[in-house]
Amino acid sequence: MGLALVAIVVVVCLAIAGVFRSPEEIATIPPVIVAIDAGHGGADPGAVFGEIYEKDINAAIVAHIEALIEADPELDAILTRWLDIAVANVDRVAMAEEGNASLYVSIHVNAFSDASVYGMEVWVDDTRTPDDPSWALARAIQEHLVAETAVRDRGVRSQESYLHRLTVPSVSVEVGYLTNAEERALLLDDTYQRQVATGILNGIRAFLVADGQLSESAQENPF
Ligand SMILES: [Zn+2]
Repeated sequence: MGLALVAIVVVVCLAIAGVFRSPEEIATIPPVIVAIDAGHGGADPGAVFGEIYEKDINAAIVAHIEALIEADPELDAILTRWLDIAVANVDRVAMAEEGNASLYVSIHVNAFSDASVYGMEVWVDDTRTPDDPSWALARAIQEHLVAETAVRDRGVRSQESYLHRLTVPSVSVEVGYLTNAEERALLLDDTYQRQVATGILNGIRAFLVADGQLSESAQENPF
């Protein structure tokens, strides 16, 4: 074999091995899939205050999160519902698991008999051991949601829930209290809903970077 032929063979082999990928090809790393769940829906309104339903605020915040993810080439979203329909918790879990989501974040609004109570909480299922990454996901969302909105921080907590069914890190974010007048006004405000969405997504991104699923160099907020 002549030298020229050897060189051609080497180049062809390298090309087959993918050494000469264009920048566009390198950029097409599969996005990380995240499952975003709007709590309640359909006949289940969640918390109710007059004619204000938790399910609608949850869906509005999820729509903002989806818009942010759509603008983010490194992320893809699975929404468990985008219509005002009832979805069983087992089906919410199945959509996330079968869609290969890396994590699951459920969005809720709280209510309480004492109208003076306000603020955000992130909930983790009480069967999660201390080393379960759900806690790290919860803390990342808590930190970034508070930084983005200045919402009162009521902390990361645990309770019994359906979230134990998920094999991936999973949390439920209670973004505020419908029963508190000031917070209710904010929760109904489109700009505030967008801020909540940004804070939650920044937390998700921070968790994925710390977990090695996203690159550090990536923009935390695409806007
Ligand atoms: Zn709820």
